[in-house]
Amino acid sequence: MKTKQATTAWHTLPAEQVRSMLTTSEHGLDADEVRRRLESYGPNVLPQQADTTVLTILLRQLASPLIYILLIAAAVALLVGDFKDASFVGVVLLINTLIGGWQEWKAEQSSRALQNMMQVHATVVRNGQSSEIAAENLVPGDVVWVESGNRVPADLRLTTAHGLEVDESLLTGESLAVNKNCEWMGAAEASLGDRLNMAFAGSIVIRGRGIGIVVNSGSQTMVGQLAGDVQSAVGARPPLLERMENFSRAVAIMVLVAAVLIGTLGVVVHEYTVTQMVMFGIALAVAAIPEGLPITITVALAIATKRMAKRGVIVRRLAAVEGLGSCTLIASDKTGTLTVNELTAREIRLANDQTLEISGQGFIPEGEVTRAGQRIHDCDLASGSHTGESSGTSDDLRQLVRVGLLCNEASLHRQKGGWQWRGDPTDIALLAMGHKLGCEREPLLEHLPQINEIPFEPEHQYAATFHRADQRTAVFVKGAPERILTMCSFDDPAGHEHWQDQAREMADHGYRVLAFASGEDAQGLSSSENPPEPSRLKFAGFVGMIDPLRGGVREAVAACHQAGIQVCMVTGDHPVTAFAISRELGLADDPQQVVVGQQLIGLSADDLKEVVRKARVFARVAPRQKLEIVNAARNLGHFVAVTGDGVNDAPALRAANIGVAMGKAGTDVARESAELIVSDDNFASIVAGVEEGRVAYDNIRKVIFLLISTGAAEVGLLGMAVLSGAPLPLLPVQILWLNLVTSGIQDKPLALEPAEGNVLRRPPRSPKEPIFNQLMIERTLVVALTMAFLGYEAFLWMLKHDWSEDEARNGLLLFLVIMKTFHLGASRSETQYTLLMSPLKSPLLVVCGIAAVLVHILAMLWPPMQSLLGTAPVSLMTFVTLTALSLLLFVAMELHKWSWNVRHPN
Ligand code: ADP
Ligand code: MG
Repeated sequence: MKTKQATTAWHTLPAEQVRSMLTTSEHGLDADEVRRRLESYGPNVLPQQADTTVLTILLRQLASPLIYILLIAAAVALLVGDFKDASFVGVVLLINTLIGGWQEWKAEQSSRALQNMMQVHATVVRNGQSSEIAAENLVPGDVVWVESGNRVPADLRLTTAHGLEVDESLLTGESLAVNKNCEWMGAAEASLGDRLNMAFAGSIVIRGRGIGIVVNSGSQTMVGQLAGDVQSAVGARPPLLERMENFSRAVAIMVLVAAVLIGTLGVVVHEYTVTQMVMFGIALAVAAIPEGLPITITVALAIATKRMAKRGVIVRRLAAVEGLGSCTLIASDKTGTLTVNELTAREIRLANDQTLEISGQGFIPEGEVTRAGQRIHDCDLASGSHTGESSGTSDDLRQLVRVGLLCNEASLHRQKGGWQWRGDPTDIALLAMGHKLGCEREPLLEHLPQINEIPFEPEHQYAATFHRADQRTAVFVKGAPERILTMCSFDDPAGHEHWQDQAREMADHGYRVLAFASGEDAQGLSSSENPPEPSRLKFAGFVGMIDPLRGGVREAVAACHQAGIQVCMVTGDHPVTAFAISRELGLADDPQQVVVGQQLIGLSADDLKEVVRKARVFARVAPRQKLEIVNAARNLGHFVAVTGDGVNDAPALRAANIGVAMGKAGTDVARESAELIVSDDNFASIVAGVEEGRVAYDNIRKVIFLLISTGAAEVGLLGMAVLSGAPLPLLPVQILWLNLVTSGIQDKPLALEPAEGNVLRRPPRSPKEPIFNQLMIERTLVVALTMAFLGYEAFLWMLKHDWSEDEARNGLLLFLVIMKTFHLGASRSETQYTLLMSPLKSPLLVVCGIAAVLVHILAMLWPPMQSLLGTAPVSLMTFVTLTALSLLLFVAMELHKWSWNVRHPN
């Protein structure tokens, strides 16, 4: 059956035949049948990229310059018959591979878990009821609704299409959207792009609405058969990680060159043996190559990702974590992001100049409609004229409510114990308004069956439906007042302007104002697949809706301002409404800061930049203008985060430094174009994301600093010793121990550090600022010089006081372990004094810091480790003295903080 399915030329069959072949109907399948089909066809998913196996992850750990050097070291050790060293190197390699592999595996697991949260949903009709389900549960025979912004969830034979345009570039490579037509019937050999009555899985609905029958699901779909090469581009490597890997590689090369030079020098001038110098070169490599860096950065990013997810921000590209910290401008949608998107109709202003008030809040239709204190209920919608010839006082109201209910794509139903809704919040609000008047959509539809529609698209700013009324065709239209009023004819020439003023006055109260009109389709426009814009309508009135501000958004906007981040609003709504809301949010206080989309048309690049520099509110913006705004802001030097939900927002999301899609209201396309997804659609979550981004970046800097500066110190120490002809101060195994074991324990918790105070209280970091900025370079020098000097002097002192070379190395090794522990403590902050920071805030860091010392003490006491590492117990006196000396490093670092803070106040 499956193969027959895939080879059937569905596009050549009439819809009726498709239904009967798939034993389904307009009401869809029933639950039992769905279950049966799910079992026989399997879930509607494409064959996934196979999980990376544990083995691949482990092998990946071995692919690094350091590992190659270690392998050479082991080989050399074997050659000179040093089995102990060789096996030690082997064990260290093993430990390193296991730790690295485990961390990478964890990071991969959590990113997978996050990606699963991005499931595609589909609206399906089953048993006559429409509902939203996970797209993977679709089966052949299901009846699916699609609308602009959806990714088509399975191969569909379309049965209805209203202005349906689909981007099939994924399948056909053709970037122009295809106008679908469910009446089209074609030959079997028609190419994919020509099959106008089909919508293929994976393609994107750019415009319009459609209904189709699932004919193929999962790997049986056209895209499933192509498979493989259509994986989305998620998971690009974070640039920071890439930079650090390049850095590691550069260091490796430098070390190799330095090792050869110093080694030759050592052999020629200081009469070291060649073996000694090979060992030295290996030690140097181990010391200098920041092998822990890439994995620790990956871990830090993964942790940030997790923390962000907890605060409602899902990271699709790790790069965004690092970028968020430098965000300087957030361009946010209004509806749904700054507001809750639970519209409530509050005021009706009718064409007969009557004003009605509506009580209640939210979508639940509890409340009443009053005119001058008198309740109005039970308006008889079915009777009276269908096309709006005025015959009584309530006729305008009747007409307005009729438009509101019929020109409507939402649903609002009473269900056991409560109310259930679905669809566009504007539309739901109108259904709720109808309920408060005692009117419902379904009985009305029986009188006035719908025959066609122009679905709402943000770029049109209106919606229209066509209904059969007796012998005529009625047109019902609702949308933005400016658009609707131009479609209406007025007896009084001043009518148009009068109503414009009325709309503005309503908007001034912060209402989202919708205009309503109706008319008759005399020319039979409605019979065409894509009806033209209606005209000669009769105006019925306005409805003013409120959309409450989201809790916490005001505070979030204030936090942004404090953090040096500019916030602006980009909306399709009326400028007056937009300004009223932005004033309430503290986003704008001057009408001059409001720009209307119209004003942006035809501006030169420079003028546009100037406008964008000053504006805080962009109103009546067409979705594609968002892209221009984003580009202008980037040209101004901003690092832009932009929010979006619609299909038309995708270009702006991609153009922005950080595209933020809305998890709930967002369309599939917007989500796929974004770096971040805000799961609760809340603006405040974006700000939380910025905060976490800054913390993550801080922590990554700390880890980098820790690894680089201690590496530099060890290199300095070795260099000083060899150049002065002293014995090798550390054996390769000891350096391995130091870098891979004790440091390995200590560097991880830095990636987990909590925020240092309020990170939103400082200005954003310049995105161009390198990791190795002046502070980092200075502090690295301070640490490297102090540590190398202290270590070298201590080593010489011990040799001078008759310690054997082995004893001196043992002492130096302990000294370095203790110094590194203090170093860790001082690295908790770049600018704050460690003694003023509570250790309780980072218990893990304290535990790991001490654990590393304890592990080393164990290695000094335990015979097998003693013989491996050349360690031995030291006297308490030595321990105390070395600890006291280590404090010098701590003091040096804190002094540098002080000197930095003096030079860089605030
Ligand atoms: P927003 O930025 O507020 O989401 P939209 O682009 O969604 O703006 O809407 C732009 C305008 O289109 C609104 O101000 C309203 O006048 C009109 N509008 C919004 N939703 C609908 C709808 N479902 N039907 C008709 N008109 C609508
Ligand atoms: Mg909207």
